[in-house]
Parts: sequence; structure tokens; C-alpha cells
Amino acid sequence: RQEQFRALRAVEPVTSDGTAVTLQMNAGLLVDLPQLEESGASGVGLFRTELQFMIASTMPRVDEQEQFYRNALKQAEGRPITFRALDIGGDKVIPYFRAAPEENPALGWRAMRLALDRPGILRTQLRALLRATGGRELKLMFPMVTEIAEFRAARELVNKEVGHLSRFGYDLPRKVELGAMLEVPSLMWQLDELMREADFVSVGSNDLFQFTMASDRGNGRVSNRFDPLGRTFLRMLRQIVIAADARGTPLTLCGEMAGRTLPAMALIGLGFRSISMAPAAIGPVKSMLLPLDVGKLEQVLLPALDEVDPKYTVRELLSDFADAN
Ligand code: PEP
Ligand code: MG
Repeated sequence: RQEQFRALRAVEPVTSDGTAVTLQMNAGLLVDLPQLEESGASGVGLFRTELQFMIASTMPRVDEQEQFYRNALKQAEGRPITFRALDIGGDKVIPYFRAAPEENPALGWRAMRLALDRPGILRTQLRALLRATGGRELKLMFPMVTEIAEFRAARELVNKEVGHLSRFGYDLPRKVELGAMLEVPSLMWQLDELMREADFVSVGSNDLFQFTMASDRGNGRVSNRFDPLGRTFLRMLRQIVIAADARGTPLTLCGEMAGRTLPAMALIGLGFRSISMAPAAIGPVKSMLLPLDVGKLEQVLLPALDEVDPKYTVRELLSDFADAN
């Protein structure tokens, strides 16, 4: 099977009825990047920048961060990388950055909350990213956005750094695309603003599922209790697709569910045309989608979402569909 997947590396991810799906991979360290070539991913859909910080013993300086991003872009050889601004806190601990202990770290002072309260850390990172992408496109997204105001504040910080670097004569990126991760349920009631203001949106299904179901992603006892393929979560994802399509906002999903074949099939049926996953999942997901008839899948999946007294779970329907096709 491994050989079979390798043979698919250069095959375009297009379904049997002609739907193209962008398959990207998740990464965080330079050692991950050779996987681009090996997996056939078209780019890095999620670059977890906090990993550089998590393995360091002191806060990486601006020039160290810049060099790291340059190396990553160089290794990607022109394939796009979507960087994610530092997502510290919760399950992502930085040993030399100690904040007061919290009773609920997942809900605590983390990611954008921390970044906006201590803008020095984020501004340093923005400076490094802007410098490293001089002359090309910078794609950058912000984690754990809870209110649109936070995204606006982040955009302002980027603009400030752009102004600063241009005054000092730096070569600026040709284009800066700023995205928001949709991983906190509060954004579901700000979808219109979100889709209007963000240059792209990436669903962080790990956290979105954790917060929606109020079940700790790190605690198997509760995280496996509810199914991401249940109607609850799929309805939510469908609403996101509808909102993105209405505004023409590029949408992707970069949580673990993108890397499992049945959930990935569900995502395509819901209307996702771009997903990002662990590199090892690209081959299996591609071999799932090549023979797929998306029109037929939609006919099974979309009406099933609205059933109020269902006889079958969506997981059952999808696995029957997969077996029959
Ligand atoms: C997510 O939350 O789904 C996600 C992609 O980010 P992380 O797993 O790094 O929190
Ligand atoms: Mg997350």
C-alpha cells in the first residue's frame, strides 16, 4: 500500500466527476519539509510556528526566527506555506515563558489573547516573517480568534510592522494574505464579518470540536465520546462552508479529521475544496478521493444532515457509501 500511495505523488487530486481538491500538509519544523516532496502535498497548509519556540531553551531572537522562516521557504521550493502566528498556551507549553497557573488552560490566557496583551512577542514574530518573505507572498493566520476585534487588532499590528520595515528600507512581501483560524465557536455568530474581513479562513477542527462539545482534546475518555462525524459538528461545518462560499472567501480545514479518509470524504461532501493534514495521510486521502463522485456523495450527505429522527448515523451512511462506490 505504501508503494501504491507513493505512486500517487504526482497525480492531481481531482475526483472522478472533476472536482479539484487542494491537499496540503501540516508542519512545524524544518525536518518536516522534505515530506512535501515525498507526500506530493501542494504546500504547507498549517505551519505551527510555536514548535521552534517549544524546542528552544530561550525565546528565539528576531534574526533566528527570520532565518528559520527563510530556511522553511527555501526548502518548500516555491510551494506555498501558510504560517500560523504563535499559538502558545493550553496544550502548547513554552518552558521559559511562564504565566500564572490556570485552572482551565485550554480556555485561558493563550494564543491571540496573550499575543495582544504582550504585543512585543507577536511584533517580533511579524517582523521576522515579513523580512523572511521579502519579495514574495506572506500567508499568515492567527489562532484562537474569538472576536473579530482581535483579528482587526492583529491586522493593525501587521500594518504597523510593514510601515516600520518600509521606513528602514526593507524588501517587503509582494503580497500579505492574513487569515483567521476558526476554532472557537463564538465565530459562528460572526461568520459574515469574518468571511468579509479575513483574506482566508482555516478551520482548526481539533479545537473547534473540543470547544463545541466541551470535551478536552487531550483526554481520550471524553474526546472519543462524541463523533466529529455526528450531525452536530457536520452541521456546523456546513454552515461555515455556506458562509465562505457566499463571500468567496478561501476556506480550508487543518485539523486531524482532514487526515482520516472517512472524515475527509465528509469534508469534501460538505463543500471543502482544500484541506491540510499530516504528511502520511496525503496518499490515503488522495486514493480515497480519486474515484469519488462528489455529486452522488452530496446527495447522500447533505439531506442526512437535516434529519431529526435518523435511523442511521452519518458515519454509517458514509461508510456504506464508501463501500458501495
Ligand atoms: C486545530 O486546533 O485543529 C489545529 C489545527 O491547531 P492545533 O492542533 O495546533 O491546535
Ligand atoms: Mg488549534
